[in-house]
Amino acid sequence: MISGELGSNNPNAAVDRNYYARGMHVPALFEIDGNPIPALVAEFGSPLFVFSEHTLRNKARHAREAFKRRYPKTSFAWSFKTNSLNSICCILRQEGWIAEVVSDFEYEKARALGFAGSEIVFNGPYKPRHILERAIEEGALLHIDNWDELNLIEELTKGRKQPLDVGIRVWLDAGIRPVWSKFGFALANGEAERAAARIVKNPGLRLHTLHTHIGTYILAPEAYRNATQKLLALRDAIHEHHHHLVECLDLGGGFPSNSLLHGMAGPAEQVVPPIEAYADAITEVLNRLPEKKRPLLRLESGRHIVDEAGYLLTSIVAVKGMHRSRVEAESLSARDYKEQLILGEDPKVSYIADAGINLLYTAAWYRFDVRPSRLIAAAPVPSRIYGSLCMAIDVIREQVDLPPLEIGDVLSVHPVGAYNVGQSMQFIAYRPAIVLIDENGMPELIKPAESLDDVQRLERLPARLAVT
Ligand SMILES: *Cc1c(COP(=O)(O)O)cnc(C)c1O
Repeated sequence: MISGELGSNNPNAAVDRNYYARGMHVPALFEIDGNPIPALVAEFGSPLFVFSEHTLRNKARHAREAFKRRYPKTSFAWSFKTNSLNSICCILRQEGWIAEVVSDFEYEKARALGFAGSEIVFNGPYKPRHILERAIEEGALLHIDNWDELNLIEELTKGRKQPLDVGIRVWLDAGIRPVWSKFGFALANGEAERAAARIVKNPGLRLHTLHTHIGTYILAPEAYRNATQKLLALRDAIHEHHHHLVECLDLGGGFPSNSLLHGMAGPAEQVVPPIEAYADAITEVLNRLPEKKRPLLRLESGRHIVDEAGYLLTSIVAVKGMHRSRVEAESLSARDYKEQLILGEDPKVSYIADAGINLLYTAAWYRFDVRPSRLIAAAPVPSRIYGSLCMAIDVIREQVDLPPLEIGDVLSVHPVGAYNVGQSMQFIAYRPAIVLIDENGMPELIKPAESLDDVQRLERLPARLAVT
């Protein structure tokens, strides 16, 4: 085992395996798909979101193949809430994805992008009446979340000649904690089967899909095996008791990207199971059924597909020391002395970057990879990266080993393609430009940075308050 690794790992490899080891250097990231990082910032400004079309398509194709090879009846729906940039949605559309939306905004966006109603899966705990009416009219697949929504959908579909295909969202214990019980009908107490029975009896509706989404960044493929078994058991019960065989199982999203949570030792590639492990867990269960009884499998994977395609580039705008005072050892108990040695690992230097948690909402959970964009011939020291907001909680990394940086140094923060753009907020600053690098390595602006006019376009100032 050890000899097998010799020669295949660089001298820094011990650092990768040992949380407490510190290497001789921090790897830099010089370019994205052939574009030098400082040049991207020089052309498009800083901070800057950058998406790699090459990486996005690769991730999508890899996931598609992993499932289709094992289970040909697999299809994918793109989770708009993970990233709803038009370019991202349309790239996935080209890759064969339909749309998965959770709100009126996302539904309207999907339609405006050219997804037909029948190419939209409509999830979420609240679908306002006006958008339900439109979605029913346009033949979207509604995944019903609760009894009140079922009541409303029954009212809106009363007297239909053609039954409307619908699904139900189910929550179940797949073995991971916390169990997401906010969404859908409970499996364990029979609620899901009661909802299914009511739909089966309604001539205006046809129960097409059983859906669950067990969480996000799920590191245990076994959880999906459990979820698949439980949804299949529900499907069997509905078949047996209500004589309707549900056509489709939708296992939602939640597959992890190559990312780490705070406190996890990396590298991510060694912690995060490959997509094939998830494909095995789900399809082994389905493939045990006789071929004619096998359901359609739908997946709504978001994070796994898009996270690694996204980078945030941010520039250092100020350098600060930490100035931690040291207590003399003699005046400390042995325990406190040790504690202080550990605290000695605290950042020695801190930096202010021009991007913060306004653009990286998920920095609260995820330990992003932060890298310089040039070779710096100095040993790394524990450093802290603050964002640019006037808030103490605005920290991108509490502690990260970096060589000494200078003002103007550009850092890449990765992977940030999932959720960050959608959740970024316009708080005291403009949201930055977004660039897509196409498969030939050409960068193209897909969203310019906001201006004052963009931000306050919808504001109305009462005439009596206007400065004259
Ligand atoms: C958020 C969400 C997804 C996508 O989740 P990821 O963790 O990004 O894969 C899929 N389905 C539903 C219903 C969701 O709410």
